[in-house]
Amino acid sequence: MSRDELAQLQLERLQSTLSRVSKSVGFYRKKFAEMEANPQAVTSLEDIRYFPFTIKADLRDNYPYGMFAVPLRDVVRIHSSSGTTGKPTVVGYTRNDLENWSDLCARFITAAGVTSDDIVQVSFGYGLFTGGFGLHYGAELTGASVIPASSGNSRRQTLIMQDYKTTALVCTPSYALHLADVMEDMGINPQSLSLRWGLFGAEPWSEKMRARIQEKLPITATDNYGLSEVMGPGVAGECLEQNGMHVHEDNFLIEIVDPETLEPLPEGETGELVITTLHKEALPLIRYRTRDITSIVPGECACERTGRRIRKIQGRSDDMLIIRGVNVFPSQIEEVLFEIEGTEPHYMLIIDRKDNLDYLEVHVEVGDMIPQQSNIVARIRSRIQSVLGIGVEVRLVEPKSLERFDDKAKRVIDKREF
Ligand code: ADP
Ligand code: ZN
Repeated sequence: MSRDELAQLQLERLQSTLSRVSKSVGFYRKKFAEMEANPQAVTSLEDIRYFPFTIKADLRDNYPYGMFAVPLRDVVRIHSSSGTTGKPTVVGYTRNDLENWSDLCARFITAAGVTSDDIVQVSFGYGLFTGGFGLHYGAELTGASVIPASSGNSRRQTLIMQDYKTTALVCTPSYALHLADVMEDMGINPQSLSLRWGLFGAEPWSEKMRARIQEKLPITATDNYGLSEVMGPGVAGECLEQNGMHVHEDNFLIEIVDPETLEPLPEGETGELVITTLHKEALPLIRYRTRDITSIVPGECACERTGRRIRKIQGRSDDMLIIRGVNVFPSQIEEVLFEIEGTEPHYMLIIDRKDNLDYLEVHVEVGDMIPQQSNIVARIRSRIQSVLGIGVEVRLVEPKSLERFDDKAKRVIDKREF
């Protein structure tokens, strides 16, 4: 769709979404009245800035169904968020929402290389988490053969991959690396498998991590993004250019705002992603603050899709660590670790306070053959110091000693008391 046509469609859908929520969701009716924001007065996409933001706490305050815009009898599916940052929020889908969700997932799955000739192993959890079902129905819609492996039991996952000749693997990036290790333990050479595509999401991962996964597994790894409140997976996904995730803008109006002032930022600048749903029935959200930090990739993509792209998510603003006043995302430390030869891509960050000063301890696994340990420690410390400007403690730990995760990896333990 051309950008002009897209903008026209977005405006029509924005107007109808705003007037619908003002009629059917008490929360928005009240907020709009307070701010004197009138859906009827909206004549351009920029007018969105006169409307209130929605935050996770609003969904928690209206838990479980208070923000739904349709009666429960029209809701045919219920999911929830993972609860990474607190009480999980509940989300609902009408029949049309489900159809649309599958369609959006099928779009990015196709963009990531999958066709009806592929065999897709979905190793996301099937359950309240939106990842499993979202990718499942999306992949089915592409005509691929879908294996609902669900998460866990890594040896069995590997055997399925081998015996069923899986060509596309769907899971979190950290789990993909774990599966590569399990293959090694089982004496299975990944190159002997039929794998070609890796579709990864649900947690932040760096470019270095992508390189490592592609080195260990014979796949092209793409990133895809979504969040339960807004729908689940299917909000945005990379094409084979591997350079930013195309947002499905006919369904989602995006803004990048300064997380402090909440003012919109110019294209290309890094800030918090804010999403207004344009085509959802059960749970439309206005200016939802995702807390996810990214920026818009300027220019057009070589693949000719017209949806604008967002860069890899750096992390959530609530994951940002403030160490002695310096802002640090775990993904930045990950980038540094991956540059150091001899370290494994498994790490844990522990933050605590000693004599009223924050300190960060980086636990990182090392390979079986480490040339000179002390040298690695010094190299990691000086790299982090020069890239991020903070001093850290580094502790090398045995291979495979850090916890592995089937779904979202947890990499930070903050022991500070505020
Ligand atoms: P929760 O917010 O409790 O984790 P969700 O399961 O809805 O619940 O997860 C959505 C969140 O997961 C996003 O807001 C984002 O922080 C993270 N996420 C999802 N996909 C990606 C991705 N491709 N890269 C980085 N982070 C992602
Ligand atoms: Zn593209």
